[in-house]
Amino acid sequence: MSRFLKERYQALEAYTPGEQPRDMEYIKLNTNESPYPPAPAVVAAMNSGEIERLRLYSDPTAKGLKEALAELYSLSAEQIFLSNGSDDILNFAFMAYGQKGAIFPDITYGFYPVFAQLHGVEYQEIPLEPNFSVNYKAYLNQNKLIVIANPNAPTGMSIGLDAIEEILKSNPDGVVVIDEAYVDFGGKSCYKLIDRYENLLVVRTFSKSRCLAGGRLGYAFANAALIADLEKIKYSTNPYNINRLTLLLGKETAKADAYYTEKCGEIIKTRETTAQALEEMGFEVLPSDANFLFARHPKISGEQLYSELKKRGILVRHFTKERIKDFNRITIGTPKEMQTMISKIKEILL
Ligand code: PMP
Repeated sequence: MSRFLKERYQALEAYTPGEQPRDMEYIKLNTNESPYPPAPAVVAAMNSGEIERLRLYSDPTAKGLKEALAELYSLSAEQIFLSNGSDDILNFAFMAYGQKGAIFPDITYGFYPVFAQLHGVEYQEIPLEPNFSVNYKAYLNQNKLIVIANPNAPTGMSIGLDAIEEILKSNPDGVVVIDEAYVDFGGKSCYKLIDRYENLLVVRTFSKSRCLAGGRLGYAFANAALIADLEKIKYSTNPYNINRLTLLLGKETAKADAYYTEKCGEIIKTRETTAQALEEMGFEVLPSDANFLFARHPKISGEQLYSELKKRGILVRHFTKERIKDFNRITIGTPKEMQTMISKIKEILL
């Protein structure tokens, strides 16, 4: 750290992203990427002509992509915001709506407290219930910025739409961010509530169910006034924050929805067979609506299982937080990758 850094950033503890190792080929089950490639039409959209056009700036209004998403979700373009990954949108939300403080679960996406600290937002972490579900009642009548990942990460567990609606109703003076990064793997989206609740911001991503993590594309749904706030922040930081190629691929992705629905179905199926296989080996597996499983075994620590798997070429995600340190988060890969993982775990547990 240099002596020039602003005081308020000096104590900031930056987010630690999942490992992206380059030392060898791993079966990579640690950052919830899709094991499948983008749809054929998305791959075909990339060509040398598009690369040559990179000399031109991208469209800051992202008109084509917004229109494609508007059609897919039966919304108007004014209800859609796009940015460079959903992390970018969450960052903007803390920046824009954190003036009265924020609340979110103690065990959730690790970036929320970092954004809060970055923007000087006071925050309160609400403990998950003993069974690791979100205690939604603790979020009623708070009138602060409320941030809930639904399904939650790293647990994979969801709360119902009726709970979300109660939170929205009882917090008329606070923005409620529902982070739906994993919703396409069996969760229920609340985005249709944006017409009824002016305080709802639904944040989503192309990184998981849309097989485009490296493209960096996030989107959000809300009423036009919230979207205008986010656009204001975007135009005050980086108007061209989505590159031309990603805008193009995003539009093709929106048009190829059937392909992605099918791939999500395959991932859900693989998740269920993997959960069963883990349970048969003695794991406790939390019920997941996401493209990952969160599991612990009474005979081996989370840390040890993580490192034994890594030695065998399989990367999963381990968190050091006390309450979840016995668990690992395992991204659902292809059926073959899961079979390999199961046989390696059997070997480790022998
Ligand atoms: N929300 C949650 C709950 C996540 O797990 C992630 C992925 N790490 C994100 C948001 C951010 O995803 P991205 O920036 O790739 O859209």
